[in-house]
Amino acid sequence: MPAVLRVALPVPLPTLFDYLPPAVGEAQAGSRVLVPFGRGKAVGVVVEAGVESALGGARLKRVIRLLDDSPLLDAELMKTLAWAADYWLGAPGEAYANALPLALREDKPLPDTREEVWALTVAGRSALDAGSRKGGSRRLLEALAPMPLSAGELHEHLPDWREAARRLSSAGLIERIERLPDAPAPSSEPPTLSPEQQHAVASVHAELGRFQPFLLDGVTGSGKTEVYLALIESVLAQGRQALLLVPEIGLAPQTVRRLRERLGVAVEVLHSNLSEGDRARAWLRARSGEAKVILGTRSAVFTPLPHAGLIVVDEEHDGAYKQQEGFRYHARDLALLRARALDIPVLLGSATPSLESLANVDAGRYRALHLRARPGAVRPTQVQIVDMRAQRLEHGLSPTLLTAVADTVARGEQVLVFRNRRGYAPVLLCHACGWHAECTRCEHPLTLHAGRRQLICHHCDLHARVPEACPSCGASDLKPQGQGTERLEEALAAQFPDVPVLRIDRETTRRRDAFEQLLDKLRDEGPAVLVGTQMLAKGHDLPNLTLVAIVGVDEGLHSVDFRASERLAQLTVQVAGRAGRASKPGRVLLQTHHPEHPLLRQLLAQGYGAAAKDLLAERRMVQLPPYQHQVLLRADALQREHVDTFLREAHGALVHDTLQVAGPMPAPMPLRAGRHRGQLLIEAASRSTLHTALRPWQRTLASLPSARRVRWSLDVDPIDLY
Ligand code: ADP
Ligand code: ZN
Ligand code: ZN
Repeated sequence: MPAVLRVALPVPLPTLFDYLPPAVGEAQAGSRVLVPFGRGKAVGVVVEAGVESALGGARLKRVIRLLDDSPLLDAELMKTLAWAADYWLGAPGEAYANALPLALREDKPLPDTREEVWALTVAGRSALDAGSRKGGSRRLLEALAPMPLSAGELHEHLPDWREAARRLSSAGLIERIERLPDAPAPSSEPPTLSPEQQHAVASVHAELGRFQPFLLDGVTGSGKTEVYLALIESVLAQGRQALLLVPEIGLAPQTVRRLRERLGVAVEVLHSNLSEGDRARAWLRARSGEAKVILGTRSAVFTPLPHAGLIVVDEEHDGAYKQQEGFRYHARDLALLRARALDIPVLLGSATPSLESLANVDAGRYRALHLRARPGAVRPTQVQIVDMRAQRLEHGLSPTLLTAVADTVARGEQVLVFRNRRGYAPVLLCHACGWHAECTRCEHPLTLHAGRRQLICHHCDLHARVPEACPSCGASDLKPQGQGTERLEEALAAQFPDVPVLRIDRETTRRRDAFEQLLDKLRDEGPAVLVGTQMLAKGHDLPNLTLVAIVGVDEGLHSVDFRASERLAQLTVQVAGRAGRASKPGRVLLQTHHPEHPLLRQLLAQGYGAAAKDLLAERRMVQLPPYQHQVLLRADALQREHVDTFLREAHGALVHDTLQVAGPMPAPMPLRAGRHRGQLLIEAASRSTLHTALRPWQRTLASLPSARRVRWSLDVDPIDLY
């Protein structure tokens, strides 16, 4: 038996591949190698070296070239990744592919990690003073006027800066310099922490250097970020690194600004909108220990941390931490695995903690820290239910709500009308015959987008023309049913002609900086009405926003998804948290047809914590996660029959005696983008039972002939069953 290297290759197969060692060099676990694969070549990661292969020597191929003299992935990351691939039933190669930025998965030398820094030239400063440049060029000159900025920082301020940089540098107005001048001195002083904040900081501080999960539970504006800042400061003082995860990049710029101003250090930002080169450089700087504070979204959880001190997961309840394709890991859970492997504390923060995390507190696995007070708030936000029944509605808005909006803008303050649906109306209906516009590929209603004069499927992005007349009966009586943000914007603009009405959703903020620019406008005082989707639910500080009106929560009360209540409670509380952040008192109106609904009642009377406790008790009673563990086998194909056959055979191949299996059954959305979808749900009270049965099953599935006619995937701890 020859000694071989066991290599993970970026293919969706649950196996590693054996190769003979390279002719030159000593490959170690964590090093990348170039290998022959199929008819071509591939870059893989050595998982084990010097193992015996079961294959005969004649069938083994040799590594073409060793790409790293010393391992690129350190022992901790290798261990965590192996664990993660095993836990999420992922293909090992895909787990490694997620961990390495794309530019490091190629057969190329490692990129230069020296920072790319841009500065104004003397000519640039005159051009700025003379006002001779406009648009993107002017914005870039302005951004560089106070001090030189790195590519990463520019990316945060001005997502489209590169083109302007090309123009300006060829005109000699800006230049690339070697490195940033020394980190700016901290420019903001920390506030005096409240006793609760001090307690939170001291508790985590006492565990630095040990694995201990914490849940920091505090309403929006209660000062969680100040707690993170204080802890990151101590970690830096020990010469260690801190990793801060946020659910989406929209939240990054303001957090980066706060970190930089407070700590006076460079903050490395890692997210999927960076160019591949920038991402790889940031990753490598973290690996060398040069980057001390790393802020990023989901995939940043794979950042190497040779001097790790602390991991913080902000908004830990957010579903964006779950990857929904390929390697379906959960970044919060992976952060826990890493903290354990690194022997450091991990701090999960949220105003609305996930039921999973609350259950972990109950079980004694996490320690809970609470921030109950809001520093600086005059008094707590008032929440009030508006009963819509028997009210005359204006485009879905009740008189009570409209009066409250009018009063607020009359005081010169801002209002947020929250509706979690884009477009003009979710349905276009024929009043004569009952026909409605439907997506042919999903069998779901098409959303009317009036401004774009289109019907759009929000599931598969099909675009269709708006018909002049009913295609079924010919009547011209087509009526939009229900309200999306676009229709609310129109209705509110008509009601309040003298006040700016701004819509903030994916449609109006398609340009990356559009959202930031809108927010900047709103930070200025002055009355305004905002209409928005959940893009606005998240931590944007708008000091003059004092009224939040939530419309359309009723859909969440009737969903078949068992997590719908939890999500509704979280979203409601998060959106409500937008009101009255600063010194002005806030008010929240919740408009519903179900004013007596127990969840809404409880949320109002006792708050999120009590509602979550009841939801957890319910989950325990009916044996649902987190008291039950689920794995979902999904399959889809152009023909229903192929899905059915595969799921039937998959079910037959599952050897077990204690698992609960539901299905095969159609997915809650049985057709999507023209593909038929089905699933099999497997549950057990114990994770190890589940995993023990499913690992061999996964290999069997891959070898079923019917598997070749479908797309299939396994989802461990799915966060939705769609
Ligand atoms: P969260 O992250 O919980 O939403 P932040 O840390 O952003 O809360 O705090 C909300 C606001 O209150 C911020 O403007 C912050 O500077 C301020 N703040 C936080 N803690 C204090 C404190 N102890 N004293 C004064 N202001 C504080
Ligand atoms: Zn009709
Ligand atoms: Zn569709």
